[in-house]
Amino acid sequence: MSKKVINFIQDCFKTKEFIPLHVPSFIGNEKKYLENCIDSTFVSSIGKYVDLFENRMTAYTQTSKAVAVVNGTSALQVSLRLVGVKKDDEVITQALTFVATANAIIYNNAIPIFLDVDLDTMGLSPSAVDNFLNEFGEIREDGCYNKSTGRKISACMPMHTFGFPVHLDELITVCKKWNIPIVEDAAESLGSIYKGKKTGGFGEVASFSFNGNKIVTSGGGGVITTNNLDLGKRAKFLTTTAKDPHPYEYYHSESGYNFRMPNINAALACAQLESIEVFLKNKRALANSYKTFFDKEGIKFRQENPETKANYWLMAIELNNKAERDLFLKETNSSSVMTRPIWQLMFRLPMFKNCQRDSQDNARFLEERIVNIPSSYIK
Ligand SMILES: *Cc1c(COP(=O)(O)O)cnc(C)c1O
Repeated sequence: MSKKVINFIQDCFKTKEFIPLHVPSFIGNEKKYLENCIDSTFVSSIGKYVDLFENRMTAYTQTSKAVAVVNGTSALQVSLRLVGVKKDDEVITQALTFVATANAIIYNNAIPIFLDVDLDTMGLSPSAVDNFLNEFGEIREDGCYNKSTGRKISACMPMHTFGFPVHLDELITVCKKWNIPIVEDAAESLGSIYKGKKTGGFGEVASFSFNGNKIVTSGGGGVITTNNLDLGKRAKFLTTTAKDPHPYEYYHSESGYNFRMPNINAALACAQLESIEVFLKNKRALANSYKTFFDKEGIKFRQENPETKANYWLMAIELNNKAERDLFLKETNSSSVMTRPIWQLMFRLPMFKNCQRDSQDNARFLEERIVNIPSSYIK
């Protein structure tokens, strides 16, 4: 089986050399903006590209305010603080995710609760959240509490796995019922659409990543988006050392962060964002070729749900079992076609092993079967 897949992928990418999982493509104004940025000497914490990038991200995500920061992980960390996550609070998220999602909770001295994902979206399952809260949730005056621990559940953080949006309407309904704010981990889903609207505008706050492996890169970077202008202002304040506005005095009214995105990264980001429609179209074409090929081979290629449009950031197939997956990983990687298994579930990691969780039937199923295949833009 692997041999035919390897040949097909080599044909798609028109090479017999090493084929990575996902690499950036610089097809627009990248060099021009970087040169301009260097010539201006404003390469660091302030400059016109930061403002330009924030304005363009606000427009692109159809939100009210976008704040650029150093990376997606710090965006998540601050997003949780913005919705009021405090020490010893709990945050609901999925165990099937990249470690940064769970780490962002720990950075706020809060505790993750890992709930199951849906099989179709591979993201946090609204019914798993509802089931958990029906068993353990208790609404008090200032929010929802976990009856089994006595702690406040102060946020719910779904992650749009590989750019496939979670069932947002259903999740919003559950979280409203239990008075829990949503923070979208949209690190992987820039450009993905749910019922006509871009991801990153559904929760109280959302976070994007512009790391080198994402669909659009700033070298390293992140963005916080929100439709709440007060939270947007506060995001800027907290990520720029929480300095009270004054012409010359340094007065910081709380502990903020030095998380601002440098202007030179924002210059790269501006150029990259100009190409996103080209990237999305190119990736969708590759996804369609993969779909046709894998259908013929009797292998399940993971596709978007009808009411959504995925960005197809990382493409994935679902194999029949773990043994088949392991063999496929071995054969492809030893033939210079890079493939990777989906992440190990968070509660298998030492720092999260004692966290509260549900049965994780779907997450365990996917953990054993999902493999990412080369997904880069094809020139
Ligand atoms: C990439 C990613 C992040 C972190 O982004 P960085 O910019 O690398 O810090 C967070 N969550 C998920 C799900 C990611 O894929």
